[in-house]
Amino acid sequence: MKDLKREIKVMTGIVTFAVLAVTILGINKLNSLKLSSAAEAEKNIKEAEELEFSSKTSVLKAGSKYQFAVTGDTDDTVWSVSDKNCAVINQKGVLSGKRAGSVTVSVRQAGREASYDVDIEGKKKVAIDAGHQLHSDSSTEPVGPGSSTRKAKVAGGATGVATGVPEYQLNLDVAKKLRKELLDRGYEVYMVRSKNNVNISNKKRAVKANKSGSDIYIRIHGDSSSSSSVSGASALYPSKSNPYVSKLSKKSYKLSKAIIDSYCEETGIKNRGCIVRDDLTGTNWSKIPVTLIEMGFMSNSAEDRKMQKKQFQTRMASGMADGIDVYFGY
Ligand SMILES: [Zn+2]
Repeated sequence: MKDLKREIKVMTGIVTFAVLAVTILGINKLNSLKLSSAAEAEKNIKEAEELEFSSKTSVLKAGSKYQFAVTGDTDDTVWSVSDKNCAVINQKGVLSGKRAGSVTVSVRQAGREASYDVDIEGKKKVAIDAGHQLHSDSSTEPVGPGSSTRKAKVAGGATGVATGVPEYQLNLDVAKKLRKELLDRGYEVYMVRSKNNVNISNKKRAVKANKSGSDIYIRIHGDSSSSSSVSGASALYPSKSNPYVSKLSKKSYKLSKAIIDSYCEETGIKNRGCIVRDDLTGTNWSKIPVTLIEMGFMSNSAEDRKMQKKQFQTRMASGMADGIDVYFGY
């Protein structure tokens, strides 16, 4: 009997404790609910006070400017961008596009802030083809749309007479330097090839360039002659009587002239000028202004050695980019 009483007492104690515990927990939960709804309300007020843009854009071309603004502009407004390589912004809210990509524009004012994403578009798009490839392809293709004349899909290319470096390697090295230079100048770039071990016919290269949405097509090559004394650079373009791309002749000449002049001025390589060529498959399939730059003679030992120097290659690329700027009028 006594034991039973004690048991009841103990049980009652446990139940009381349990009820108490649940009650305390419940109150706590209620309190935390109250707290969170208060935080919510505070946040809502803050959101209502959030900075608002009175002027903003989601797209800007590299080389162009745009005035951002927020409502209630004051002197303590602080502007910033997420990627300064892509675009910069001054403390008056003027955004300047530098190179293609995307940035977030952020603005702070008296503890409040706002941000907006902006796509920076390239000012123009350039397709670059580094001529040739690791292995030539002697199977044939038509030299132009509808042509019954056929030529090898990819010829072997020249070899540096002094350095032994194959033309496909020189072409790719300079093409990559040109790509970097153009990106730094705010262009978009399409590379037909980025490695040597590919098999892309000259027709296919032109088709790829056409489909890339590029404005111009630059074909990069090294020249060769049976005479080792011949030196200099030239730009090859289609004539007005070209059966496939006569409509591109005028603009292609303008492009060729701009590039070869700037290139030779920058590098000091002899300027052999613009030369008409209507038998080039990679040119005849193009739908955009096109030029083939013969950068120098790999059969001339001095020119071959010069073209293998990395610093000189940077100048070669820079000279070509100068010409592209001239063509577009920048
Ligand atoms: Zn070549």
